[in-house]
Amino acid sequence: MTEELDDSEKVKGKENLKLEKIDELVKKGELDPSNVKFTTWQDKKNDDGEIIGTARVVQEEDEELAKVEYICPRCQKHGFKETEYKRPFWVKCEGCEKSFSIPRLKDKVKKKKKPDV
Ligand SMILES: [Zn+2]
Repeated sequence: MTEELDDSEKVKGKENLKLEKIDELVKKGELDPSNVKFTTWQDKKNDDGEIIGTARVVQEEDEELAKVEYICPRCQKHGFKETEYKRPFWVKCEGCEKSFSIPRLKDKVKKKKKPDV
């Protein structure tokens, strides 16, 4: 099972900023973490460095659309959508209709297609 992988990615100590939709998809088997081409997870901070929102993007190898789960840094709406990933990547909040950017940090998931011996 893949639950151990989930654990390492949990947002710690931010209960009100918890993303769960993507984890849910993984648990239901609708998202295969070993088939992820690209993922990024980023907290949005205010000028004081306080975390006021968060966003996670996952795109599977054979999918055209990336899955985006976010908590809006402006209105704290918890949203989820599937959208095309392009850079710079902007997410439009369904609550306040303002957009915020999610810069790509790094590829967290390495491809595991070659057999590791
Ligand atoms: Zn909003």
